[in-house]
Amino acid sequence: MHRLLQLLFVGILAYLAYSFWQKDTGLPLLPVIGKGLCSTPLGWKLGYLDPAFNLTETEATAAISQAAQMWNQAFGRTLLQQDPQGFVIDFRFDARQQQLLKQRLLSRNLNRYDQAIEPGRENLPQQFAALQQQIDSFNLQTAQLQQQIAAFKPDAPNAASERAQLERRQRELKQEADWLEQQRQQLVRDQDYLNETIKQRNALLTEAGPAAISGPFEVGLMKIRGQERLMTIYAFGSQQDLVATLAHEFGHAFGVEHTSAEDSIMYHSLSTQQAMLTAVDIAALQSQCGF
Ligand SMILES: [Zn+2]
Repeated sequence: MHRLLQLLFVGILAYLAYSFWQKDTGLPLLPVIGKGLCSTPLGWKLGYLDPAFNLTETEATAAISQAAQMWNQAFGRTLLQQDPQGFVIDFRFDARQQQLLKQRLLSRNLNRYDQAIEPGRENLPQQFAALQQQIDSFNLQTAQLQQQIAAFKPDAPNAASERAQLERRQRELKQEADWLEQQRQQLVRDQDYLNETIKQRNALLTEAGPAAISGPFEVGLMKIRGQERLMTIYAFGSQQDLVATLAHEFGHAFGVEHTSAEDSIMYHSLSTQQAMLTAVDIAALQSQCGF
């Protein structure tokens, strides 16, 4: 038992050292590789594929090939190729994947709330204002009718027809009052629904806590020690994400550093804008390879 504890402790220390090292290697400690690097294809092979990702070897290999092809096609030459002697690409499952999926789910749900909230937020104030105008006009007409009723003389010669007219007007206004009340109730229901939806949205956000919305974390890592390379994929929310992350790490494999253009594959964090290599990415590798 004691021994096990000790082992665990050593394990934890090793893990801490390892994770520190990981963090520390955000950017490759490359010797200046220069021209030699891009003149022969860089080989890769699929290493450990954690079953928790629910990805077959064929699917993982296809995603890696697709990412490699992005670079190959951009340069019209084979820079990367599958090779049994190549460097290893591992898929390691940890809390990051779960957090990523949680984030995706949260943002999808927030998006649904926002889509429900937006039209009401835009239209309801106008609808209330329009109804208020109708109510004002109704009140004016009611006041006029009351004046006419007050001025009504039962003894006048045309009293009977005037009475009939006033009564008809009274019925019309009663109908309009009912209609306006229906409109008002409908708008109040819409407003209640809107308020409730906003409340639910905020509750969801609060419930998710800061962890779920905390900034980007590392979803892939390229470690380079001298000539040795190891790529690890930790998390991806979609096929497109995975290919973009693999392409990004391939860029690091060549020693390309992060770019500041948000739509470029080599931007430091993953975004939905990243679909293909941009001129910025291509220029970065060109200058790294010296061609
Ligand atoms: Zn990076």
